[in-house]
Amino acid sequence: MNQQSAIDGLRRAEIPSQALFINGRWQQGETGETIEAISPVDGKVLTTLARASRGDVDRAVRAGRAAFEAGHWSRMPPAGRKKVLLRIAEIIEARALELAVLGVRDNGTEIGMALRAEPGSAAATFRYYAEAIDKIYGEIAPTADTVLGLVHREAVGVVGAIVPWNMPLMIGAWKLAPALAMGNSVVLKPAEAASLTLLQLAEICAEAGLPDGVLNVVTGSGSVVGEAIATHMDVDVLVFTGSNAVGRRLLEYSARSNLKRVYLELGGKSPNVVFADAPDLARAATVSANGIFRNSGQVCVAGSRLLVERSVHDEMVERIAGVASAMTVGDPLRLDSDIGAISSAGQLAGNLGYVERAESEGGRRVVGGERILAETGGFYMRPAVFDGVTQEMTLAREEVFGPLLAVIPFDSEEEAVRIANATEYGLASAVWTANLSRAHRMVRAIRAGIVHVNTYGGSDLTVPLGGHKQSGNGHDKSLHALEKYTALKTAWFQL
Ligand code: NAD
Repeated sequence: MNQQSAIDGLRRAEIPSQALFINGRWQQGETGETIEAISPVDGKVLTTLARASRGDVDRAVRAGRAAFEAGHWSRMPPAGRKKVLLRIAEIIEARALELAVLGVRDNGTEIGMALRAEPGSAAATFRYYAEAIDKIYGEIAPTADTVLGLVHREAVGVVGAIVPWNMPLMIGAWKLAPALAMGNSVVLKPAEAASLTLLQLAEICAEAGLPDGVLNVVTGSGSVVGEAIATHMDVDVLVFTGSNAVGRRLLEYSARSNLKRVYLELGGKSPNVVFADAPDLARAATVSANGIFRNSGQVCVAGSRLLVERSVHDEMVERIAGVASAMTVGDPLRLDSDIGAISSAGQLAGNLGYVERAESEGGRRVVGGERILAETGGFYMRPAVFDGVTQEMTLAREEVFGPLLAVIPFDSEEEAVRIANATEYGLASAVWTANLSRAHRMVRAIRAGIVHVNTYGGSDLTVPLGGHKQSGNGHDKSLHALEKYTALKTAWFQL
């Protein structure tokens, strides 16, 4: 059977209503209330999720704490934890297609991308941190001979993890794998619009041998479940990926409760800077279009501001508009769709609002920006390129999180740096130039967590992902992520 037939075979599979995963068992929420999971593919109800209450969150945190104290996981020898995490990676890989199709039905990402970026990278993430477990040592401090200073790296306790609806399995794994690797317990809250694959992951973890209570998955609204986790007095660390508005609240919740450590991975308005001496403008246009339009622009690192040196501006606009127009937007479960569905009706309406606003503020819509395929009941729109965008316009400042590209011309390297940095965000960026010195100067000058050079996207687990400025603090991926999930303890001996 070819891959498309296999996908088609899974696309209508019945999805039972979902419960909460607490203390190793599926449990109903205490109120019995539910939330409908709507598929952006056709706008129909896929299934229902349990709408958890504060009391349910409390049960989950208590299960996490009890598991941590019991030590079956937190004090398991590193080789044992490694074995379980490797097994999780194996099961994810064995079920990759099933998980990818389930995720696409839930949030609309095109299946080609979902296969790579969801189960593919989730499995790679579990494997990476499994392999790290027995290669991390404590320290002996360089002290005088009369004393001995040992620095232990310990698990923190109960980690609360709150994640968004884009790439839930990948981003969930970025939090879970390093947290579990270090021996913590986790209470995970998926987004309302994309909970299904993370509920499956809970089952996979249990099947792989993760002891009861170590991972708990609690579904529901941000304002109840998210807030209950973030204000809980017995959650030690909060890790979050999502919007700046919610990130801000989490810091307040921490201040109001137990001063838990809070690590935020937030939004971006990332500049993609193309100089006239870019090695290959055609390639720059294709890669840049993918860098903003794939997954309908619902990617935190999306290159949403295209800064182009004036002498190649018209050529670049024409090229990128050509690539955008040629992209196939449609059924995300077809391998030949370049762009799938927008994740929800609300997100689609928001995107269309940004299109209207960009035009009313003086932007020139070169291509795209309209809703299509409304007759399917699903949420689709054509990727849009806006020219003539100025710094004052909303499209140059606010994160849309949709398939809208703002093109801004510049005349000099200094001006490019000024525009690139004229944002509260600092997540990602790119520079296209054949001039090595300029590339290095730009890497130093741009205030962002990643500067791509002559490419956009595609980095792997070996490098950290984290924001500068208001794009967040802390990092996912790489060994640096482990810092969030560990506490240092000094043992000081008088000899
Ligand atoms: P969101 O902030 O609306 O929601 C994220 C999560 O927070 C959801 O689970 C939601 O239920 C929960 N939440 C909402 N209100 C809450 C509250 N009051 N208290 C606690 N939790 C609450 O974000 P979203 O729309 O799901 O995701 C899109 C955003 O995520 C974009 O801004 C995007 O840039 C960002 N993002 C960042 C990265 C990164 O690595 N920096 C990666 C992906 C997405």
